[in-house]
Amino acid sequence: MSILRADKNFRRFEDVTPQLLKKEGVKLLLCDLDNTLRLHSEKEPADELAEWIEECRKAGVKIVIISNNGRKKMMQKFCEPIKVPCVWWAKKPMSTKLTEAMAKYGFGPSETVMLGDKWSTDVLAARFAKIRAYKVDHRRDIV
Ligand SMILES: [Mg+2]
Repeated sequence: MSILRADKNFRRFEDVTPQLLKKEGVKLLLCDLDNTLRLHSEKEPADELAEWIEECRKAGVKIVIISNNGRKKMMQKFCEPIKVPCVWWAKKPMSTKLTEAMAKYGFGPSETVMLGDKWSTDVLAARFAKIRAYKVDHRRDIV
C-alpha cells in the first residue's frame, strides 16, 4: 500500500457527510483550507461551507482547520464567522500541528481524520500522525 494513498477519496468536502463521519467513528476532523474547503481566491466562507460545518457540528464532529497558509489575519477573518479554530503555518507534512490538535481537544488517532486535497502535505501528514486521510479533488479557481 502506498504511503500516499488516502483512505477515502471524495470529489468535494460536501461529499464527506455527517452520516459518513458518524458511521466511521470520526469525532475530530482536521481540515486543510485552500483548495479543500475554499478556492484560494475566496475571501469569505461560502454558504455551502457554513452549512456543512453546522451539520457536522450537530452530528458531534469537531472541526479544526490546519493550513500551511501563513496569512494569520486572513485565516482568522475567514474562520471567525464559521466559529472554527484554525492553525496557520502548520508545515504539513510535518504532523506536529495534527497531534497538537488531537491532544488539545482530547481525541485519539482512531477518532481523527485529516481531510485535504494534496498527497504531499495532507495525506502524508496524516500518515505521520497515524490517523486516517480523506482526500478531496483539488479545486481550482476558474479564470
Ligand atoms: Mg490545500
